[in-house]
Amino acid sequence: MKIKAQFGMVMNLDKCIGCHTCSVTCNNTWTNRPGAEYMWWNNVETKPGVGYPKEWENQEKNKGGWEMRGGELALKAGGKAHKLLNIFHNPDLVGIDDYYEPWTYDYEHLVNSPEKKHQPVARPVSQLTGEYMDILWGPNWEDDLAGTHETARNDVNMHGIDEKVRTEFEDAFMMYLPRICEHCINPSCVSSCPSGAMYKREEDGIVLVDQDACRSWRFCMSGCPYKKVYFNWQTNKAEKCTFCFPKIENGDPTICSETCVGRIRYIGIVLYDADRVKEAASVEDDQDLYEAQLDLILDPHDPEIIEQAKRDGIPEDWIEAAQESPVYKMAVEQKIALPLHPEYRTMPMVWYIPPLSPIVDAFDGHLDNISSDVVFPAIDQFRIPIEYLANLMTAGDTEVVSTVLKRLVAMRSYMRSIDLGKEPDTTLIDRLG
Ligand code: SF4
Ligand code: SF4
Repeated sequence: MKIKAQFGMVMNLDKCIGCHTCSVTCNNTWTNRPGAEYMWWNNVETKPGVGYPKEWENQEKNKGGWEMRGGELALKAGGKAHKLLNIFHNPDLVGIDDYYEPWTYDYEHLVNSPEKKHQPVARPVSQLTGEYMDILWGPNWEDDLAGTHETARNDVNMHGIDEKVRTEFEDAFMMYLPRICEHCINPSCVSSCPSGAMYKREEDGIVLVDQDACRSWRFCMSGCPYKKVYFNWQTNKAEKCTFCFPKIENGDPTICSETCVGRIRYIGIVLYDADRVKEAASVEDDQDLYEAQLDLILDPHDPEIIEQAKRDGIPEDWIEAAQESPVYKMAVEQKIALPLHPEYRTMPMVWYIPPLSPIVDAFDGHLDNISSDVVFPAIDQFRIPIEYLANLMTAGDTEVVSTVLKRLVAMRSYMRSIDLGKEPDTTLIDRLG
């Protein structure tokens, strides 16, 4: 066994209000410069919706692609990117239309315009061409930019939801999905890079691009199933979320966590067995990948693990941090946080607590009464179809998602009893979870 430490994040989706503060502060800190205008290292998607870049979850259609070969994630054999590895361009790329054409506004016109009966208008101007433009697409089209019903429908279709649920879902509810690079334990961007420029830091698992070594191949962009590597068209280098490593090294949180209005983000270290990563990523059934990923993470309280971690060079204060880690607590101990698309096999390290969404109606309005003989609501009483969440987080395993949601109901009821000065029902987690 070889123990390594890894930073991860948990996001509680019930608490995300879709304000995009995380995206804006990340952008102001890291990508507010020429060549990076279209980049949102942190973005917030409205679901159902096609996302950013468009249809990034559609791995069949996804430009480039990857596959498992001999336990390694590699560019898809026979894919154009793989065949043309020795030719000086990579055709399997998402294009600017898949992201959006970034724009600013003609503020000068706004300021200098003579006084008239009506207020002057600041027209959108392309940041790429400097021309006035019609905005045709944006990074969160389904929400902020009043996108069409159709794009949301395409997404729901893709997630295999049946007709009845689909109609209800489209009409009834949406949710937010904030996304950063997953800082995967088994990163396909690293294994796709012919120049050795993409690397995973030994000490904390943060995945970075060596700007001096990058040779502009962009195979990392093709190889990342989450589409979280970007190309700077001014410097001709790949760029991506750095997990704010300069702040992390100072003991500070990432900028997206620090500024998150909903306080949805939790950062922590986990310890994992680096010798078993390939084996875990190779399990046959997609639905076993969540368990395989959990299995890799080690118990930081176990004296044998602590001794081995020390022998493997992990500092004692890091081991203590792993013991207190909210990521370990929520993902492994409480099992309320799930990975995003574990079937991509990269062992993503951003975990999501699925949204319970308002469920009070399912209990006839009395969440605080469920400690008596509650009849747990049928799965279809949750407002977001379990199938949809399962497609996002468990390769379609609805059992796992429903167990997590029940556990969340039990936790909510428990805390509510305490708030109301009532005796909490301590058997509830066992009965529901
Ligand atoms: Fe690499 Fe993509 Fe995983 Fe980030 S999400 S580590 S860019 S494969
Ligand atoms: Fe959601 Fe927090 Fe981002 Fe606001 S700042 S969109 S609450 S993750």
